[in-house]
Amino acid sequence: MVPLSAKICLLGDYAVGKTSLVRRFVYNLFDDKYLSTIGVKVSRKVVALPRGDEVVELTLMLWDLAGSQEFDHVRASYLRGAAGALMVCDLTQRGSLDMIGEYVQQMHQINPGAAILLAANKQDLRDQRALSEEEIAAFAGSLGLQYFLTSAKTGTAVEDAFRCLGSLAISALAGGRGC
Ligand code: GDP
Ligand code: MG
Repeated sequence: MVPLSAKICLLGDYAVGKTSLVRRFVYNLFDDKYLSTIGVKVSRKVVALPRGDEVVELTLMLWDLAGSQEFDHVRASYLRGAAGALMVCDLTQRGSLDMIGEYVQQMHQINPGAAILLAANKQDLRDQRALSEEEIAAFAGSLGLQYFLTSAKTGTAVEDAFRCLGSLAISALAGGRGC
């Protein structure tokens, strides 16, 4: 086992499900109450991931920040030192894609080569869908990102998304690419 640690930032609009995705992944819990995040919360989860012939024991330090404008001035320091970022949008809110491009650019600027993945969340709310999978695929492709359609509520693809991001972060830490 090779121990490694990666700072991963959650980015996306208010109420897209950033805090809920971390809560599902780390504690396997979901809450319908709106849990407004004030400042930064860091949660930790260790995952075992293959790297070539060895297994890496990766400690994911998940940084969850409130998404509102007031916090814009802390974003650079929030992102500094991150090996990866999970961009989160909400499949029921078309506008939740608007800022993602900017977040990706900022992340690339501050941490060149860092791992970035798109989680299109609230996959369970099928009757409220405002974005199709084709649109998400095209959007993610235009930014060079892999994507997962997730649900923090049911757990769909949450583990897969964080594990894939972890694998990308391991490659990024080693200066390579690939999930
Ligand atoms: P954040 O502001 O991005 O951290 O968003 P939250 O995690 O606080 O979630 C905002 C609201 O959306 C809360 O009421 C959550 O219960 C709800 N929510 C989050 N993820 C999902 C999901 O996958 N499905 C459904 N149905 N609701 C979700
Ligand atoms: Mg939150």
